[in-house]
Amino acid sequence: MLKNKSAIVTGSTSGIGLGIARALASQGANVMLNGFGDAAEIETIAAELRALGVQVRHSAADMAQPEQIAAMVAEATAAFGAVDILVNNAGIQHTAPVHEFPLEQWDRIMAINLSSNFHAIRAALPQMQQRGWGRIINVASVHGLVASVNKSAYVAAKHGVVGLTKAVALENARTGVTCNAICPGWVLTPLVQKQIDDLAARAALSADEARAKLLGEKQPSQEFATPEQIGALAVFLCSAAADQIRGAALNMDGGWAAQ
Ligand code: NAD
Repeated sequence: MLKNKSAIVTGSTSGIGLGIARALASQGANVMLNGFGDAAEIETIAAELRALGVQVRHSAADMAQPEQIAAMVAEATAAFGAVDILVNNAGIQHTAPVHEFPLEQWDRIMAINLSSNFHAIRAALPQMQQRGWGRIINVASVHGLVASVNKSAYVAAKHGVVGLTKAVALENARTGVTCNAICPGWVLTPLVQKQIDDLAARAALSADEARAKLLGEKQPSQEFATPEQIGALAVFLCSAAADQIRGAALNMDGGWAAQ
């Protein structure tokens, strides 16, 4: 379905981004991977995707650095001939009460979780407009729709992503470029495993107990969403069936935001 299309997926060396990169590549899209990690492991991921018959590159651009984001978009355009699909997924978390929130963590979360989306969209959008087709998918969070305690920076950044998504969708409403947000609830990735480990240590729980407590507090299905399921939603948003989905924030959260 996505043969002859090319995608950038930020933060795709792990977790949800990797699930989306796999899903897009399995539909025939070339993929610019991005994110940190062990060089050999990243090469293994790239080789796995190349085996699907697509071109794959990796950019180590730091999503906290606007000029590196612009360079990544330029590199993907030069390598693949175009960037048709932009998935803004890279994100980090830090938890603390708002009055104790470290300033540098606030700035870093704003830069990586919110401003990076703006910089990447700004760099990639003109060529999509010129070609009359494009897909911008921002991986926000259920925390783009509702809040939780001790996550002020993350909640503010993700609400910002949902707002940015709407603004970009409106500005391009009469073009073939759509912009939407995906809002996952709990997905078992390294980012969430760290929160499970912290909870287990704090509350003297086993890993299984901490995992069950985490889900029990927020996610009515009591099950994690998976990177594969989120990848499938991203593929759907790239399909013609999704041409009129614009500015939406689609939650995949086991019922979290329905409460
Ligand atoms: P993860 O920690 O498994 O992966 C994060 C990815 O981002 C990695 O590839 C990492 O290398 C990359 N990254 C981190 N900082 C970066 C930077 N400065 N520059 C470039 N790349 C960077 O996390 P995940 O759980 O897969 O989260 C992916 C996205 O999904 C994030 O935006 C997160 O907020 C969002 N999200 C996750 C969950 C969840 O439950 N896991 C729920 C809702 C939303």
